[in-house]
Amino acid sequence: MNFHVMTLFPEMIMQGLNVSIIGRAIEKGLISIEAVNIRDYAFNKHNKVDDYIYGGGAGMLMQAEPVYLCYEAIRERITSGSRPRVVYLTPQGEVFTQKKAQELAKEDDLILLCGHYEGIDERVLEEIVTDNISIGDYVLTGGELPAMIVVDAVSRLIPGVLNNDVSAEFESFQDDLLEYPQYSRPEIWHGKRVPEVLLSGHHANVEKWRHEQSVIRTRERRPDLLDNKEKS
Ligand code: SAM
Repeated sequence: MNFHVMTLFPEMIMQGLNVSIIGRAIEKGLISIEAVNIRDYAFNKHNKVDDYIYGGGAGMLMQAEPVYLCYEAIRERITSGSRPRVVYLTPQGEVFTQKKAQELAKEDDLILLCGHYEGIDERVLEEIVTDNISIGDYVLTGGELPAMIVVDAVSRLIPGVLNNDVSAEFESFQDDLLEYPQYSRPEIWHGKRVPEVLLSGHHANVEKWRHEQSVIRTRERRPDLLDNKEKS
């Protein structure tokens, strides 16, 4: 998977992602991430990419042309024939979920577009964006953190990125359930014991306990997920 992030702050993207599991995945060549500076496609001598908003109101807007030229430059580099998906990170998008991450993980190339200021001129969004994604119902200053969240969630679904593929298999949101509680050594900590069944070595009983705990936890913390499950 090749991620192409269109941003005014490329160093933020690379510093945030070039570490730990994602950093190692880049090193191993399982994924690649390029952060492309939209400012490099400014068409005035001050490298300005924002301007006042027609109709008035506070703040500035990113102009269409630099965003479009940046997109075209990335498209020319992408060798796979089909039109790449372009995700605009926006509070006005569909809220990002594990299901959406799974869908995006099937792509060979993914372009992520980060807005700033009051956002981006609508006309270029109409021309290039295929998916609008929000990371939640709140407003941030820019699309960089949301883009990093999408890259992280999608990357860990690419085979080989996690050392143990099983750890991506049994996780929260699979089957509309949250993951069960987990414990590591020691057996007793602050007087709290690890549940006996987990020490029993009885695989079927462990699985049964984990499933029950997943359902209990989901009912307590995210009953909306169980509603989805019943509907499907
Ligand atoms: N004026 C816009 C609105 O009300 O919809 C908000 C613009 S916001 C200050 C600047 C940029 O941050 C957006 O263009 C978007 O890229 C990003 N952003 C802010 N909140 C976000 C969220 N919840 N999810 C994804 N991106 C977000």
